[in-house]
Amino acid sequence: MEKLLPRFLEYATIDTQSDPYSKTTPSTEKQWALAKKLVMELHQIGMQEVSIDENAYIMATLPSNLDKKVPVIGFISHMDTSPDFSGKNVKPQLIKNYDGKDIVLNKKKNIVLSPDYFEDLLQYQGQTLITTDGSTLLGADDKAGIAEIITAMEHLVNHPEIKHGEIRVAFTPDEEIGRGAHKFDVKKFGADWAYTMDGSQVGELEFENFNAARATITIKGKSVHPGYAKGKMVNAVGIANEFLSLLPPREVPEHTQDREGFFHVHKIKGEIEHAEIELIVRDHDLVHFEARKQLLQDIQRKISKKHGDCIVLDIEDQYRNMREKVEPVFHIVEIAKEAMESLGIEPIIKPIRGGTDGSQLSFMGLPCPNIFAGGHNFHGKYEYIPLESMEKAVMVIVKICALTAEQIK
Ligand SMILES: [Zn+2]
Repeated sequence: MEKLLPRFLEYATIDTQSDPYSKTTPSTEKQWALAKKLVMELHQIGMQEVSIDENAYIMATLPSNLDKKVPVIGFISHMDTSPDFSGKNVKPQLIKNYDGKDIVLNKKKNIVLSPDYFEDLLQYQGQTLITTDGSTLLGADDKAGIAEIITAMEHLVNHPEIKHGEIRVAFTPDEEIGRGAHKFDVKKFGADWAYTMDGSQVGELEFENFNAARATITIKGKSVHPGYAKGKMVNAVGIANEFLSLLPPREVPEHTQDREGFFHVHKIKGEIEHAEIELIVRDHDLVHFEARKQLLQDIQRKISKKHGDCIVLDIEDQYRNMREKVEPVFHIVEIAKEAMESLGIEPIIKPIRGGTDGSQLSFMGLPCPNIFAGGHNFHGKYEYIPLESMEKAVMVIVKICALTAEQIK
């Protein structure tokens, strides 16, 4: 366990920011630097079948130490950090025995991590916190997950008395730009199920996420001199406005929580001859999700009827709620829950208001709930992680491996 912290600190200082505008995999060259390091480290700790492909997907095996057949399980983390905030020159700071007071991240710029605003901090009094210096993100999302998985594997290598089946691990690029699962070779991975170590605070266990689609609405207008436009002008800006006014006003991100779905208009541009709306649709419930997409079509039809054929609606599904793939194999959630409880960790089970690589992997045939990695305030300068939470994640991984083997008689 003593290598957990230095491991994490080392990964955090390697810039692996991904880039949504890049067409390559990995999306940025710099992700290779961490990838190559991880391959070396997997060899060093005694993992077998260590491989890295041309897209920087890393896989490795910890062979079974049993003679009976038990399910092959996997653990997955991502190497990249968010494009939303700089990951260059990350200088992690260690706060030992945290006293529950404000943490000055950057004195010069007056950047303070305060429990007045981030009240979660208070549950970590007396613990060791790792923070940023206020100028970058930390990258605990998801380098904490990587450090935890490697440390757990090393622990199992060094403790052959803990019996387990074959364990597979994988580290992927480009999760933050939604492409972590795209080139993941599920067949090569060969696990019966897996867990992404990519959640936030201690205890998080997630197997539900949004169903997601995006829509583009394109409106064609007709420009005529405004003084002589009666009965002739078709104003695309006005029609765009009419379209938006027919969406339910309270069903937006800023008014919804838990399992409430929404429409989120994130871009409008327009002039008389041409207007475009971009929006996303999110709902945990598949029936409600389909109804939301239907509503968009109904509005389009209604407006077309009124103004003539001037509006094109293009809806594209993005990802789906993994629940339907996890429920038939619910023991994989139960094992994770039992592992946490046996370590005195209270499982926090709640639906993700977003997607994960695990949801895509689940639909690719690898059921894949998400487990906490321990960090808070991802994707920004207030990101931090308690060392104790990372240690707990390591123990949860070890325990899941042991429990999976125990449950097969
Ligand atoms: Zn992540």
